[in-house]
Amino acid sequence: MADNGLLVDGQVWLPDPHQTFVKGRIIETINDGKQVKVRPENSQEDPIILDIDKIDRCNPPHFDKCQDMASMTYLSEPSVVNNLMLRYKEDSIYTCSGLFLVAINPYKELNIYDKSFISMYKDSRSNKSDSSEKDKKLTSCKPHIFAISEEAFQNLITDGKDQSVLVTGESGAGKTETTKKVIQYLLAVVSTDKDNSTPSSFESQILEANPILESFGNAQTVKNLNSSRFGKFIKIHIQHSTRRLVGAHIDWYLLEKSRVVLQDKKERNYHVFYQFLKSAPESELKKLRLTRSVQQYGYLKDTNYAVAGIDDKEEYLRLQKALEVMNFSKEEKRDIFKVIATILHLGNLTFRNRSQDDRQASFSDDAPLSIVSELLGVSENDIRTALLTSKVKAGREFVTQQRTASQAKFAIDALSKSLYERLFQFLVDKINDNFSRNSLLSMEAQNFVGILDIAGFEIFERNSFEQLCINYTNEKLQQFFNHHMFVLEQSEYLREGISWNYVDFGQELKPTIELIEGSSSNKIGIFSLLNEECVVPKGSDTSFLEKLHRELHSKTNQKNPRYRPSKLRDGFVVQHYAGTVEYSVDGWLDKNKDPLSSTLVEILSGSKDKFVKGLFDSSIETNFTNSPVKGGQRRGGRFRTVAQRHKEQLNDLMKQLSATHPHFVRCILPNTNKMPGEFDKRLVLEQLRCNGVLEGIRIARSGYPNRIEFDQFAETYWLLAKNTVSSRNLRRRSKDICEIILNDLHLDPEVYKIGTTKLFFRNGVLAKLEKEKTRK
Ligand code: ATP
Ligand code: MG
Repeated sequence: MADNGLLVDGQVWLPDPHQTFVKGRIIETINDGKQVKVRPENSQEDPIILDIDKIDRCNPPHFDKCQDMASMTYLSEPSVVNNLMLRYKEDSIYTCSGLFLVAINPYKELNIYDKSFISMYKDSRSNKSDSSEKDKKLTSCKPHIFAISEEAFQNLITDGKDQSVLVTGESGAGKTETTKKVIQYLLAVVSTDKDNSTPSSFESQILEANPILESFGNAQTVKNLNSSRFGKFIKIHIQHSTRRLVGAHIDWYLLEKSRVVLQDKKERNYHVFYQFLKSAPESELKKLRLTRSVQQYGYLKDTNYAVAGIDDKEEYLRLQKALEVMNFSKEEKRDIFKVIATILHLGNLTFRNRSQDDRQASFSDDAPLSIVSELLGVSENDIRTALLTSKVKAGREFVTQQRTASQAKFAIDALSKSLYERLFQFLVDKINDNFSRNSLLSMEAQNFVGILDIAGFEIFERNSFEQLCINYTNEKLQQFFNHHMFVLEQSEYLREGISWNYVDFGQELKPTIELIEGSSSNKIGIFSLLNEECVVPKGSDTSFLEKLHRELHSKTNQKNPRYRPSKLRDGFVVQHYAGTVEYSVDGWLDKNKDPLSSTLVEILSGSKDKFVKGLFDSSIETNFTNSPVKGGQRRGGRFRTVAQRHKEQLNDLMKQLSATHPHFVRCILPNTNKMPGEFDKRLVLEQLRCNGVLEGIRIARSGYPNRIEFDQFAETYWLLAKNTVSSRNLRRRSKDICEIILNDLHLDPEVYKIGTTKLFFRNGVLAKLEKEKTRK
């Protein structure tokens, strides 16, 4: 903190071990201004002494509950968190912070999304100025998700450019709900042929995609009763001239397959399993040899199957309606649930051996192998052999080897996971097919608004391959944000004729991204080393880790400063943008390989059942970029691992995003109890540090964040230079007056820049001038 002379008696934020920070008042500055004596608010105790850099200025009271935090005089962590808290307490869950819209989960229904709100934001159009983007943002900044949606819609129409709304945040923070609100808004403002009260059939289909995606892609977790276990990017295509909805498309990322076979305590498998068993007609269950009893199924029985707040029966009806609207045929619906039933039976294939490691596993007498073979449309013998034995290369020959029970269980689980993922792909493909059938083919210009709903940085106690994939994704998204901000700022400086090189903070993330995906000059990265280890004979998690250390770490840390071996024996540490994350490599080779044996793929692609055959048949190629498994794992004859696929998908997404005008939404979890009104300052602060909101402020402050037009500056501050500026001067060009005032103030030329229409100031300078003014 500078200018400590002004601090005495000033209100400041002090660190506090219990509450993160508290307000306090400065009693005196000591030690040549290096320290201060302060008394925390409401404390009768002796004042405490703190280093000057441990305290932060409080903003003047008129900034309390401010709508755009970028406009605050002092942009410190406490002031940002405090502002969000004050707003949250009165149900203002949306706040702007420069380019971000911060949205805090209210955990209760707020009456702010109905038609009247849609009209309000729609009508705000006419009030927009055509000045720079940032100014536009400020004027339209009655913060709301509809304001962002409206901005995206307007920019699409007026600039003829694709738009994107990037929604990230922790699990339970409200990303999926936010995404739905953006879609709700866009569908409400596009033109339809009919009266606006009933959605067109295309609009209904877009809305009905959600229940399908949620039944099959969401599950109850400790953090969220309806947690999305995949990421998605939904594009809504709109024609400029008619403002009509002309197309839609869904891409998906990183489905958590492991949940199909294993869940943590107090969590569930995917919703669809419970919905189906609890609600399907008796006759249908009978045909599939199922009973209603959830506890009978190995993949479900340890889960928390009755959940307060989730009505599986009602959701099943919603799913059925959605499948109907989406034109799934009777046969397709039957096939989908047949796969669900197959997976449930696969989970009940148990073994005769007592010891998991006994060689020569065999199925127990009551194992439903014949049901599985019937449902999959393959012979019982073939599937038995494929699950209980493996082919191993011995010299030039392949020999058949019996599996142990745990190896066979691994093969069964791999099959269940693969079936589920292929089914999910089928569903999304079908939804997209329907969308394209509805699309209006026209030569007229159209653009899309793409909405990305993807998990934010994950830093858990134990982090695995899945966390590396999601954290890598977030590194890329953050780099995209930083670079976007850089481009915007640069163009503003350029427009105003200011020569100043703004730093591209996107570059700061490059070393970590390259550590993971490799660089163009040096292809070696964590992913490539993992891929390599998956194909070398006898590759193992341990040999992978050794390779990592050898290739990426050196004692002097010259190789890669963002990488180091972890203190845990089986892991490594990556310095991410959001913090340091320790990964353990246990099971990575299997996770990366998608270990479905080629024998199984062969058998299933020859299935008598057309649907099952279709899921595995390598001759079928889909049109969709993120088809993860159809066509086998080979593309162009090349083996594709999960890491490769993810890298490709992500690069494709980034390519699309960089051609859009982006809008950034950061969802925040207010507490871990799912309680309305409860605001955990520490939890919120941690999220703000990880999700780039505070970083965005830091970046803004590194430039000249406070801008003021000449007229306004002259009018507000001419009093400060009374000696040289008289009322006569006021008739002169306002730019000249500004220069006179600035000269008179003897400001360090480094703290301001003069543009062609406005003045640019370093953070805090205008606040000082304000203070001077009040003294006069
Ligand atoms: P995950 O990463 O686990 O999918 P998420 O960020 O998508 O989490 P949501 O499923 O959108 O989280 O939200 C969790 C819950 O919070 C919702 O089921 C809902 O109860 C509540 N919620 C979120 N946003 C809102 C909102 N704007 N209004 C009311 N309730 C909300
Ligand atoms: Mg979600």
